[in-house]
Amino acid sequence: MPTSTTAAVARAGADDFTWEPLVLDDPGPGEALIRLIATGLCHTDLSVLAGNLPTPLPAVLGHEGAGIVEAVGPGTTGVRAGDRVVMSFNSCGSCTRCRTGQPTRCSTFFPRNFGAARPDGSTPVHTADGEPVGGLFFGQSSLARHAVVSVHSLVPVEVADDRELALLAPIGCGVQTGAGTVLNLLKPGPGDTLAVFGAGAVGLSAVMAAQLSGVSEVVVADRVASRLTTASELGATHTINTAIDDLGESLAYLTGGHGVTYIVETTGVPALLELAVTAISTAGTVAVIGAPAAGSRASFDINALIDGRTIRGVTEGGSDRITFIPALIDLFRQGRLPYDQFVEFYPADQLTQAVQDARSGRTIKPLIVFDDHDSEAGR
Ligand code: ZN
Repeated sequence: MPTSTTAAVARAGADDFTWEPLVLDDPGPGEALIRLIATGLCHTDLSVLAGNLPTPLPAVLGHEGAGIVEAVGPGTTGVRAGDRVVMSFNSCGSCTRCRTGQPTRCSTFFPRNFGAARPDGSTPVHTADGEPVGGLFFGQSSLARHAVVSVHSLVPVEVADDRELALLAPIGCGVQTGAGTVLNLLKPGPGDTLAVFGAGAVGLSAVMAAQLSGVSEVVVADRVASRLTTASELGATHTINTAIDDLGESLAYLTGGHGVTYIVETTGVPALLELAVTAISTAGTVAVIGAPAAGSRASFDINALIDGRTIRGVTEGGSDRITFIPALIDLFRQGRLPYDQFVEFYPADQLTQAVQDARSGRTIKPLIVFDDHDSEAGR
């Protein structure tokens, strides 16, 4: 039986999502039908809506979902009806990298996460008139009351209630990305300096993880003063307001001219990546997370790399989500990863406000919450 639901649809040329009634096919092999409790809004969703990333539209976006399994497709293993799940990125589960615990390096990572379709090009989402709408964005398309989701995107969790489940949603992308970049990839330690460019959800998650790692100094750069205050509360030892101070000069001053050991670049601004290459120390690493418009280019002096400097692309924190997400949940419950300080709840009918607040920087991590009453009314 197909499922009638409502979802936030991104249509080409629109500057906001529109809630539309849609129909979901039954989950196929390797898929599950999920009733969403909450979904975090991420800047990647807004970049796709703006047409800056090559996801075909119209599509249902959303890739930080948390919800309850309602049904599973034929032969689907790993979850069953009633399971509470956090949703994360998708991967094939069978290529060499997937089989060796490196699903963020899956050989089909890009199409499975940005393609908004199954590997065969089909989508389980359509309008009542039969117009196909992209689904399975990051394996989930979770800005919706219900979604057909790839089982590879699902991480089962034990929670006390729906509110706790809702609050875990941002772990699936933003928190995992920032924390994983530090804990899985850079692994800084005493004596190191780590700088984070951009104090959004990803950057602040990197700050919290840096503090856990025991790194000596954590420097955060942003042009919004209130975000820098949050960064200080979460463990930044120095902040640089780039609306006032020169970032390159400030980093050189703070490090006595030696450069920063690690830079986590989350802004996607090409000039900041170029600056990062000059601001790291010998043998330092720039982790590139920020995603500017497709085709964006940066330029740097190749000889800057002679001293062993590294520029490293990283997605989803290089995480093996099935082990890393439960570890992050444990840290959150211990109070050692207090990302709830920058999460703000919005009822689904206030999605437009959430989009505006994310764009302006007023809210760092909007969390769209679906309640049961709305769910019934939305059918
Ligand atoms: Zn794979």
